[in-house]
Amino acid sequence: MVVQPKVRGFICTTAHPAGCEAAVKQQIDYVKQQGKLDGAKKVLVIGASMGYGLASRISAAFGCGAATLGVIFDKPASGNKTATSGWYNTKAFEKFAAAEGLYAKTVNGDAYSDEVKKEVIDLIKNDLGKVDMVVYSLAAPRRAVGDTVYKSVLKTTGSSYTNKTIDLRNNAISEVTIEPATEEEIEATVKVMGGEDWEAWIDALKVAGALEDNAITVAYSYIGPKITHPMYYEGSIGEAKKDLLKSSRKITENGVKAYISVNKALVTQSSAAIPIVPLYISILYKVMKSKGSHEGCIEQMRRLFGKLYGGEINLDDEGRIRMDDWEMEDDVQAEVQKAWDELDQSNFKQLTDLDGYWKDFYALFGFGIDGVDYDADVDVNV
Ligand code: NAD
Repeated sequence: MVVQPKVRGFICTTAHPAGCEAAVKQQIDYVKQQGKLDGAKKVLVIGASMGYGLASRISAAFGCGAATLGVIFDKPASGNKTATSGWYNTKAFEKFAAAEGLYAKTVNGDAYSDEVKKEVIDLIKNDLGKVDMVVYSLAAPRRAVGDTVYKSVLKTTGSSYTNKTIDLRNNAISEVTIEPATEEEIEATVKVMGGEDWEAWIDALKVAGALEDNAITVAYSYIGPKITHPMYYEGSIGEAKKDLLKSSRKITENGVKAYISVNKALVTQSSAAIPIVPLYISILYKVMKSKGSHEGCIEQMRRLFGKLYGGEINLDDEGRIRMDDWEMEDDVQAEVQKAWDELDQSNFKQLTDLDGYWKDFYALFGFGIDGVDYDADVDVNV
């Protein structure tokens, strides 16, 4: 069938198989151009189908020549509904990996569950013996623990916060007020996006003897500028990220070197859902592209792997790797702040790179990728 994008708010309900494949190929080509790394050899990526997790998997496989095992939560096509983009990305990744003789298997299921942990550990024991790197890159709205379902919220803590935002449905600039989360909502957000499940994965792998002695693990975090602090860094999600940092220390104390990498703000399916952040991202893109320092997920992750394997791992005062170093440079942030203060409906096209934002947004679902014939019939059952 001919697949068109169907955008509803900050989500696209269709995905293009050939477009996703071409986008994955572009990331692989980029990593290959950067040259080989003497790094991880057997890598587990939890949250491997999109965004930072997919870029990590590609960096491991095509940068380090690693065997990779991915955990994803995606849907295949059914009837006239396309699969999710993560599904197509994963199929494309597996195809390109196989063509180069690289081991690549994927478990599609709820990474929070004991069943998926067991399935993954059995696969590691059977196929790889042990892994030497675990990437934890989940971005999920909910987590089921027994009969209880915890839902993460994107709210402030303490008091409400009002600032500019963009309505992605009609590009209208308006003010949004984000209400504070309740204690219960903060706890639920920490349950979903904090470090408990990361620790559970590392414990389970260790107990099963599925980790090499020199294994490392990395999880991703975000800090960002002051304008987003009330609803990100100091918000409910920020509480979860602080918990993730605590977990990194516990995991390290228990014998597996655990890193937190603070990554750059980028358009992904998860970040599109956060109020205020998409407007910040579209200004940031404009500023960083003008300075030549803009990166996407793949540039960020290949640079991270370069630091982890062979490069220098500089940690900040809290012990985190700062891949947001270029985003947070003083001159970048000063320009972003100036644009933010001046921005209104009349000038947002000049002050933001909204076209770049939308281009990246559509690309997440395999649309707008160079060289893809979007009028052609494609088989959505990949
Ligand atoms: P994403 O939405 O692009 O990808 C999330 C991945 O998690 C997908 O592969 C999805 O299939 C998987 N997933 C979700 N729920 C799952 C479940 N229950 N079981 C198995 N897999 C599941 O997200 P992203 O933006 O790449 O975020 C990844 C991490 O990077 C998060 O910790 C996020 O906070 C962090 N981060 C993101 C940004 C950003 O701007 N996007 C910046 C810094 C840090």
